Amino acid sequence: MCGIIGYAGKRNALPVLMEGLSRLEYRGYDSAGIAYVDGNHNHPIHIIKEKGKLIELRRALSLVHATPHIGIGHTRWATHGEPSRRNAHPHLSQDDNFAVVHNGIIENYQEIKSYLKRKGYTFRSETDTEVLVHLVQDEFRGDVLTAFRNAIQRLEGFFAFVLISRHSPNELFFFKRSNPLVVGVGKKENFVASDVPAILPYTKRVVYLGDDEVGCLNEDSFKIVRLKKPTPVQKRIETVPWNLEQAEKGGYHHFMLKEIYEQPRVAEETIRKRLDFNRQRIVFDTLSFHANWRLKHVRKIFMVSCGTAYHAGIAARYMFENIARVPTEVCVSSEFRYSDPILSKSDIVVLVTQSGETADTLAALREARKKGAYTLAIVNVVGSTIAREADCVIYTHAGPEIGVASTKAYTVQLLTLALLALHAGYLRNKIPPKQFEEMLSFAKHIPSDLKKILQEAPRVDQCAKKLYKKHNFIYLARGFSFPNALEGALKLKEISYAHAHGYAAGEMKHGPIALIDKEQPVICIIPQSKTYDKMLSNMEEIKAREGIIVAVATKGDRAVSKFARWTFYVPKTSEFFSTIYTVVPLQLFAYRMAVLNGRDVDQPRNLAKSVTVE
Ligand code: GLU
Repeated sequence: MCGIIGYAGKRNALPVLMEGLSRLEYRGYDSAGIAYVDGNHNHPIHIIKEKGKLIELRRALSLVHATPHIGIGHTRWATHGEPSRRNAHPHLSQDDNFAVVHNGIIENYQEIKSYLKRKGYTFRSETDTEVLVHLVQDEFRGDVLTAFRNAIQRLEGFFAFVLISRHSPNELFFFKRSNPLVVGVGKKENFVASDVPAILPYTKRVVYLGDDEVGCLNEDSFKIVRLKKPTPVQKRIETVPWNLEQAEKGGYHHFMLKEIYEQPRVAEETIRKRLDFNRQRIVFDTLSFHANWRLKHVRKIFMVSCGTAYHAGIAARYMFENIARVPTEVCVSSEFRYSDPILSKSDIVVLVTQSGETADTLAALREARKKGAYTLAIVNVVGSTIAREADCVIYTHAGPEIGVASTKAYTVQLLTLALLALHAGYLRNKIPPKQFEEMLSFAKHIPSDLKKILQEAPRVDQCAKKLYKKHNFIYLARGFSFPNALEGALKLKEISYAHAHGYAAGEMKHGPIALIDKEQPVICIIPQSKTYDKMLSNMEEIKAREGIIVAVATKGDRAVSKFARWTFYVPKTSEFFSTIYTVVPLQLFAYRMAVLNGRDVDQPRNLAKSVTVE
């Protein structure tokens, strides 16, 4: 997600803001900007913003000779509106008296935008953010904090904001819900930032804001109140124990581990965005009437992707065939593009890609369009080429992923595809209403269940400590878990460099069983499912040959522990959602194996995050 920094103090704010932004670069961004209150003449707000990297903003700033003492800065990671100068933050109110930076998503922004337009406000960007700053102007009756609080109370979603105003030129105003924001307490200066590294060069004393806390600060003091009730909240000033590098990773040793631990949060955001529990509906706001019509009448779906996203495609095949009863074919992009695929106008080609720039998937998209199929992209990066070229796009909103080995982007792909399959099943009248409701209530538990799975980490560590010197692993699973046999093996290969192979467990007798002896570790993914007994028989066969079994099973399953030397447990859920669960212990396992082998976890050799060449 984006980076936010705000400063009030004696120094020249501009270099402080730039330094802060550069320390937030690791979070990923597509544009950047700064706003400051001019200390002279009537306190106008000035804004400088540029598309692209910070160097562009730095270049633009070199022409500015002001030395303001208060300002805000932002690196944007677009969610609404393409990456461009116009959409870059900060955003100004219509009367130019307020400027805001924002991290997150305002879910009801369309509704508010229509309301504001009716009142005569005009919009300068395509972002959701801009509604807030006009709303603050609309609510302003003489007190900025009150206007800010009133405006925020009309918003739905999850976000952090920092605002400056001409009406109160020595203060910064801030708010946090779900997305991070921290106040930095200095001597005769104060800061606010979305992450500690931005302020570490100046102070280690911080106040972590809680959800729905809103406040203001100037160079001498800060004040925090609740959104709904303006009584002050007493906060403790804490001292950050980390150095800069540790701080960037939120205290984790690697970005990959941080991203693994972010999964409950990003799942929660996806659920909140996509599920409307009041109306018992699934919401895909970017699917037009036409797109929904296509989904309802689709003849065949092609899931086309590469690497980890290909595994999400395999999972989607089980999901779409099971619940929406649509024949679904899964293809690796590089094969699809050269295979002269047989496509018709009533087919949908779904392209899954984290970056939205994967070269083979882009070529597959173009091929599919040429052949007249309808194309739907599932993409994490807003405004990326694939997002722009597809007939329609669904964003996964997992936030930037820095570790080369994908973790949170994969789980959000799985979750989004599962909800899309349910949505298609609903449109096609293939799910009885009762089952649909039941599935929604399973979905609701996913974020808290993911948290529970992360508690398996110590058990995973114990197992990895015994196995880290092994160089050959087999991963077996069936049905909905099968894609994770491939994904678990891929994770291990990518970051620990051990050889690993994922198989459909039914194939074991057709070859891999020849490898099994007392030295061979076999990871068996066996949650409760239709094929549970079959999988158990596979485990029995491995045990009979003295293979070393590691299992991923449903909590409370005792049968498995008769065969497995280590078992990692996941909570019980519907088989339909189980792929989202069973992958997490496999990510942790690959991570520990890599660390124990001394590998460069975040940047494994020979790999790139986004594969933009064939
Ligand atoms: N939703 C806002 C936008 O698209 C903020 C994105 C961010 O967190 O950087 O501009």
